[in-house]
Amino acid sequence: MKPVPFARWGLGLERPLVIAGPCSAESRDQVLDTARAIVQRAPQVRVFRAGAWKPRTRPGGFEGVGDDALAWLAEVKAQTGLLTMTEVATPAHVEAALLAGVDMLWIGARTTPNPFSVQAIADALRGTDIPVFVKNPLNPDLQLWVGAMERLFDAGLGRVAAVHRGFHWYERSPYRNHPMWEIPVRLKATFPELELIGDPSHIAGERTLLPGLAQQALDLNFSGLMIETHRAPDEARSDAAQQVTPEALGRLLGELAWRSASAGPGLRDELQEHRNLIDRLDEEIIRKLGTRMEVAERIGLFKQAHNIAILQPERWRRIMDAAHVLGREQGLSRHFVQALMDAVHDESIRRQTQVWERNREGGPVPDEGKK
Ligand code: PEP
Ligand code: MN
Repeated sequence: MKPVPFARWGLGLERPLVIAGPCSAESRDQVLDTARAIVQRAPQVRVFRAGAWKPRTRPGGFEGVGDDALAWLAEVKAQTGLLTMTEVATPAHVEAALLAGVDMLWIGARTTPNPFSVQAIADALRGTDIPVFVKNPLNPDLQLWVGAMERLFDAGLGRVAAVHRGFHWYERSPYRNHPMWEIPVRLKATFPELELIGDPSHIAGERTLLPGLAQQALDLNFSGLMIETHRAPDEARSDAAQQVTPEALGRLLGELAWRSASAGPGLRDELQEHRNLIDRLDEEIIRKLGTRMEVAERIGLFKQAHNIAILQPERWRRIMDAAHVLGREQGLSRHFVQALMDAVHDESIRRQTQVWERNREGGPVPDEGKK
């Protein structure tokens, strides 16, 4: 895979590239009004996005207006000079988008993980050189993401970029999709030339979370942002809660700390990137510990209901053995794993004891085994 940086795409694109527009194209007026307001309120935006065909989890939702949207995108380009972009998931979409002169395409998170679909799209694109942005797959699998881009490169496309839109995750989180920053960072480390765009809208699921996520993407040296923008977000037919008005987009872009384009990725930037990643990972560790202790409390309640002692030395020994094996695999010292897990165990016992005490009116509690 030989990624080509924006500077060699021949479209005058620069970092940071800002892409904005509604989740879905809904009507000619909605598309044109939104595009005109974006040009007025957020002049940093170079590319206008709008979904013509919307992949919905269940049938019956708004599935996009289809081909009609492509003519509206052509009008956007003629009236505003913005480049245009839409999602393709089938060879028929590709054919229609190419015919209508859409400037760039993206492959959505539900399509990327399907090698048959991506191959069919790549085959339909063979012989063209239209830029294609590949969103990460819904599931946190870096290889599937890379594989999808490789299929495009193998079909002769050079202008391929990646979009980080977060991952489905089973744990509770403030986000609609978990950012798992380590995955895009690993992608960048493997392919430093690859242009990587942050899509904080689909990570957040909720517009108030956008600024923090957008800043984190810029801090990690992403090449730009894609932000869903609608003239009347609350009336949007898809992804209403995460879209912002063109005015709010302008304010958000104005408040972000952008990297200086001229400084280049110097040593200090690289150090800062590592530090930002460490901050994200620490945050995840603490969140996971929070979830772990909640589960421990639930176990505590179960033990109390069934009159089982809190401390179960046999079970704890098995946990420690497994932790030492995993720790060794991860290159962690035995001493560190022991100290960390002891602290986790102490806190877990404390939380279970606390929950017993809080729940004491539920019946007599045996003292045996309590720490
Ligand atoms: C979108 O960009 O509107 C979209 C459907 O995104 P994703 O494929 O990331 O869910
Ligand atoms: Mn969307």
